[in-house]
Amino acid sequence: MTDVNTLIEGARELGLSIGQNEIYEFTTYKELLKEWNQKFNITSITDDIEIDIKHFIDSITPLTLNIFNDNMKLIDIGTGGGFPGLPLKIMNKSLGVVLLDSTKKKINFLNMVIEKLALNDIEAIHGRAEELARDKDYREKFDIAISRAVASLNTLCEYCLPFVKVGGYFISMKGSDIEEELKEAKNSIKILGGRLKDVKVLNIPLSDIKHSLIIIEKIKETPTKYPRGGGKPKKKPL
Ligand code: SAH
Repeated sequence: MTDVNTLIEGARELGLSIGQNEIYEFTTYKELLKEWNQKFNITSITDDIEIDIKHFIDSITPLTLNIFNDNMKLIDIGTGGGFPGLPLKIMNKSLGVVLLDSTKKKINFLNMVIEKLALNDIEAIHGRAEELARDKDYREKFDIAISRAVASLNTLCEYCLPFVKVGGYFISMKGSDIEEELKEAKNSIKILGGRLKDVKVLNIPLSDIKHSLIIIEKIKETPTKYPRGGGKPKKKPL
């Protein structure tokens, strides 16, 4: 199967359709990712079909949840090579997207991709979640905060929930084994103003990988003392 077919079939299995323009954008993004990866370590996944399945298709699985609407504002915390935020933007151009990462070379890469694809209403920011969440232009300004493969759920809640407006959602993209993490994050979810809404387990199309989408609803403002500085969210999770 050619790589274009992997994308089309993967999206179809998720019930999503992918147009010519999006296929062109994903293909260009993949070429740039492979090219930059030779010089800078952006991602450990470098095989064509693996990029399609484990990065692109996996990244767009949250679109199967019925919480996405046009024109929503979304922030991707610890986006790395742009996952899941950039594929989500490619699939829905009306989203306003912020990609955040603490590694400068990854932000340089993302700015270059954004320019090459001529995407609007998307910015890549170099910084740490714990710091940006204290900036009034970003705190509680997003309908959705999302994160994949960055930290344990209790730490992630402190990184992500402060960005979410009351009534919005934090989506944590995890593997299949999440019982323990969920238990350990109970306190953190509550303190930061969240409520566990749902956990959706799904098979990543064209693979035998099972992933979970943990959906946390923001029901109250986050107390101003969070997120804590000095590496505390990670060293001493709530
Ligand atoms: N989400 C991407 C990358 C995961 S790797 C994917 O799923 O492929 C984790 C990324 O999180 C790294 O690029 C790292 O630089 C970033 N990161 C870790 N802690 C962070 C923090 N506190 N604030 C912002 N970015 C962070």
